[in-house]
Amino acid sequence: MGSPPAAKHGNRLDNDMRILIVEDEKKTADYLKKGLMEHGFTVDVASEGEDGLHLARSEAFDLIVLDVMLPGLSGWSIIKELRSEHIEIPVIFLSARDAVHDRVHGLELGADDYLVKPFAFSELLARIRIILRRHPLQQPELMRIGSLELDLIRHRASRDGILLDLTAKEFQLLSLMLRRKGEVLTRTAISEQVWGINFDSETNIVDVAIGRLRKKVDDPFRHKLIHTIRGVGYVLDEFI
Ligand code: CA
Repeated sequence: MGSPPAAKHGNRLDNDMRILIVEDEKKTADYLKKGLMEHGFTVDVASEGEDGLHLARSEAFDLIVLDVMLPGLSGWSIIKELRSEHIEIPVIFLSARDAVHDRVHGLELGADDYLVKPFAFSELLARIRIILRRHPLQQPELMRIGSLELDLIRHRASRDGILLDLTAKEFQLLSLMLRRKGEVLTRTAISEQVWGINFDSETNIVDVAIGRLRKKVDDPFRHKLIHTIRGVGYVLDEFI
């Protein structure tokens, strides 16, 4: 019996889907992140308006869960900015404000849906799925750096045209590094993104995972792409 393909997942719909949560209440943000990750989504969280806008502009998300009342820039301002720049990522507003004119305002600004707090997680999940079905995949199908290529649809990674045999976690780690290529990622950022938890700093799970990834991605090739930035973390870069 052969082993199953390395990066095989069950539910196709939600795999590879990346959601940005912009929410300043930490408890709500943590709860949503955990729930969405358990359902197979990749999740980023911004706790301030400016950070949320920056992330939404600079990275490929399939959907944004956007709080209205945020420190700095409000959810209203963020969606106005995005839509004025023709960034059409679907948005679901979360708000404690349930006046009809607030809902209408949110939808008029270009939101796809509007949920009033408190809400049931199952309802948010159902609405996210409906919206994602309506919208074509926003993410690029292929991501590249040098001769390394990641096919997000087929969950395949190759270098110099040679297929790399990655586990699901390794694929997730590599796609995170590729999405943020050139940017130094701390161990904390990596563990939060890939494992959904912040490992105790005593553990070296991230370093071990990077080591395994290097064996497959870099060791057989002359030009190295994964670099250690001592005391900080790791970066995927072809020009170092
Ligand atoms: Ca808030």
